[in-house]
Amino acid sequence: MATVAEIVLDEITKRFPDGTVAVDKFSLDVADHEFIILVGPSGCGKTTTLNMIAGLEDISDGELRIDGKRVNEVAPRDRDIAMVFQSYALYPHMTVRENIGFPLKLAKVDKAQANQQIEEAAAILDLTPYLDRKPGALSGGQRQRVAMGRAIVRSPKAFLMDEPLSNLDAKLRVQMRTSISRIQKRLGTTTVYVTHDQTEAMTLGDRIVIMRAGLIQQVGSPQELYEDPVNLFVAGFIGSPSMNFVPGTIADNAIDTVLGRIPLTDRIRTTLDAHEAPREVIVGIRPEAFEDAALVDGSRGAGVTFTAPVDILESMGSVKYAYFSLENAHVDSEHLAELERDSGTEEIGQAQIVTELDARSQVREGQNLEVWFDPDSIDVFEPSSGANLT
Ligand code: ATP
Repeated sequence: MATVAEIVLDEITKRFPDGTVAVDKFSLDVADHEFIILVGPSGCGKTTTLNMIAGLEDISDGELRIDGKRVNEVAPRDRDIAMVFQSYALYPHMTVRENIGFPLKLAKVDKAQANQQIEEAAAILDLTPYLDRKPGALSGGQRQRVAMGRAIVRSPKAFLMDEPLSNLDAKLRVQMRTSISRIQKRLGTTTVYVTHDQTEAMTLGDRIVIMRAGLIQQVGSPQELYEDPVNLFVAGFIGSPSMNFVPGTIADNAIDTVLGRIPLTDRIRTTLDAHEAPREVIVGIRPEAFEDAALVDGSRGAGVTFTAPVDILESMGSVKYAYFSLENAHVDSEHLAELERDSGTEEIGQAQIVTELDARSQVREGQNLEVWFDPDSIDVFEPSSGANLT
């Protein structure tokens, strides 16, 4: 149905008149059909990047190409791109049909043709029964779908979406997330989607671009970013609850940490040697890597255990989160400080460890628990650069 487009950002930079460099040599190839997510903390340059693709901001340096053609100087309306914003501003006095059809009216598409396109868009968005209603008589999710309808009705080359779900409540956000994913797959329209929400990024994107202070930190599939984060920032950003970080000292084929002495597995030793790892490092362990030792049978191989009182226990139904306060576990790192500030996850790098336990765990708050983890599941980071050495 829709045409598709390849979007290439070639060392794109945005320098505002006051000298702020909001986006710094940003390079990315967005393939035909691809769903790309730009994610990162507030102020990292996501919206500015999207606005440059849309033509709403000038590009200071670098080249933007759509389907191989330079479009830096092309006016927004001639780029054949549709944008969906956070505030979806529908016209209250117009019906759903008129709202969805508005871009066609501007483009002077004839009425019969327009009606056909409106009805197709409405069918895709499950809005057919509401075509004659006005926005005031719609739910928040329906209104958001009308805004999407306005974007898809012209069959543009690409969609740009800037936090389109952030005005919806949590439940509706999840519903709309799956609708957006379904619609994008069905239409196959190249999409660049901005969010600061890592769950949205993980669930929607074919590939995710993680940004920090105008710079790309890492580009990869959700699985790649989760399994192989290049640095502390990405490791702390992706995954919920966040990865735990503790200071470690490499000595005698092991790393000493507040969680005990973690023996170096062959894999980890080899990569640490290859990177000439310093003695003092930061060890990262995902909450999912831990288990109540009482539930771990011998088949899972040798593990490391530590025992500590459970500070807080959260039962989520399918899993339990046990939090531990540990002394001397604080990690001092500018890379993590920024995440704490911006993502509202205050505990990153703090002296608190969060573990995800099987729901069968019998532990109670305040009790001592022996916790198990696999020494091969850790990541090891270089403290000053934040680089992942494993
Ligand atoms: P958020 O998630 O909060 O919307 P963002 O990642 O989309 O943030 P941008 O809006 O792209 O970030 O802003 C990137 C940086 O550029 C910020 O530091 C911001 O203060 C700065 N900035 C944005 N607009 C201007 C402007 N007109 N003049 C100067 N600086 C600006």
